[in-house]
Formats: sequence, structure tokens, C-alpha cells
Amino acid sequence: MSKIPIFDTHAHLDREEFDSDRKSLLRRLESGTCPGGLVPDELAGYEIEMTGVVIPAVDAVSSRKCVGLAAQRENFFPAVGIHPNHTHLATEEDWRTVAELAEQDGVVAVGETGLDRYWDDAPIKTQIEFLYRHLALSRKIQKPVLVHCRDAWDDLLPVIRTIKNLTVQNTAAKDTAARLCIGVIHAFSGTAEQALECIEHGWMISFAGSLTYRNAKFAPLWEAAKQIPLDRLLIETDSPFMVPHPLRGKLQRNEPVLAALVVKRLSELRNEPLAMTAAAANKNAERIFRK
Ligand SMILES: [Zn+2]
Repeated sequence: MSKIPIFDTHAHLDREEFDSDRKSLLRRLESGTCPGGLVPDELAGYEIEMTGVVIPAVDAVSSRKCVGLAAQRENFFPAVGIHPNHTHLATEEDWRTVAELAEQDGVVAVGETGLDRYWDDAPIKTQIEFLYRHLALSRKIQKPVLVHCRDAWDDLLPVIRTIKNLTVQNTAAKDTAARLCIGVIHAFSGTAEQALECIEHGWMISFAGSLTYRNAKFAPLWEAAKQIPLDRLLIETDSPFMVPHPLRGKLQRNEPVLAALVVKRLSELRNEPLAMTAAAANKNAERIFRK
């Protein structure tokens, strides 16, 4: 059996979907076991070693929960922030909580923040204001930011272009890799062109289960996966959402171990041995999140 390291850079393990069996979930993470005993053909012959999981928050309450949950495992890394779809509900007190928690040792990133025009829960003006707050906080405390972008590329790219110079100027990061990384575009859903522009401005690109879907509408995403430099890609599950193919429809809920299906698909699209893509995604995550 060849061992593949898996660092899931985005899993909402604090969510209530995991409340009923969080203990067995943690055991599965430790042993690298797929949920429900389902081992898809794609993973036959591979042993999964979970090297890390980033647990991002969506509001002040979840920020506290993520920090508490991450304290239970050495390879859990919390991020704190207010999700774009929750920004209209956030109070100034909530923001103070997030900003304070963000400074704690062990909190590895700010987020998730970003822009979402798909759900349109919060006015885009409010989302943009909070995105800038998160970016400023991330610069101030020198920790990367996790960005969500759904149907909002035309709004996000101008922000990415304007913050570029500010970030480079203010960065006094300890190691070059961390200095290079402003943050992560999580569950990337854009085109190769958009991915490369983000990379040029100092971002990493994280792929989720959507990369494994076979519907032709994902073809631009496959192209992005092919073109991204090996030192700028990450993998994630966005658990409990986005169960990867071929378990989509069979499982109610996604889990960090299944990021192995994402990296398998990534290696196939890139025409690289799985061991090579998996090692790179793991190393990139360690560089950014494990200080
Ligand atoms: Zn998320």
C-alpha cells in the first residue's frame, strides 16, 4: 500500500452535521478511513494519512467553536472570521471577538471571508466591507486569509488587484513561502485565467469536490487544475458539503479523508503521479498553516 498525505485545507467540522458522531469521525481521521466503509476504486491500494485539517469559521460563535475543537487535536488548525453570507447578521461585538481570537497562537488564518452572489443573503456592499476588514486583519497579524468566491469573480478580482501592493509592503513574514501567500481562494470555481491572476497576486488555489464532478460545465475548472504551478495548489473537502465523485449521492455528508479523491482527480488532470501531486499539496499546506 502506498501512503498518501492528505491536508484538508477547509472543513467545517464544527457544524451540527457532525454533532452526533464527532468522536467516530475523529477516529476515522486518525486511521485514514473512508466514511461508511466505502472505499472507492480510485483509492484502492492507497493508505491515507491525514496530516492536517483547517477548520474555518463562519461567524463569532463558530469562531469560538473552531478554536475549541482545534485545541483537541495537534493537526487541527482553526481559522476565525465571518462568512460573506453571515455578514448582514454580524454585530461590532462579533467582529471584536473575531479580531481578538485571530491573534491567538494556534489560530492559523483569518476566514472564511469572501463574496457570494449566488445566495445573495447579505448585500454585496456589506460583504465587500467585511472582506476588506478581514484582509486588513490578516495583514496586521501576518496570517493568511481564506476567501470564498461564488458567482462574484467580477467583484473579487478588483479587490485582489488593489490589495496586492499593500500586502507586499506590509509583510514581514518569517519565511518566504508564507510571505508569498496572501491567502487561499477556497473551493476554487473559476477559470484558468482567473486562477493564474490570483496566483500572480500571491494567492494559493484550493480545489474541492467540484473538481471531481463529470458534468461538462466544470471543464474550465479542469483546465485551471492543469495550468496551476505545483507550488500553488491545495486540496480541501469543504465538509460537510461537496461530496466528491463517485460518492456524491451515496453519502449525506463529506469528510476530510475524502480530500484524497480530490487530489487523485487533480493528479489525473495534471497527468502527474498521485504521489507527486499529493506531496506538493501537502507541503504547500504545511508551509502556510503549520508555522
Ligand atoms: Zn467554507
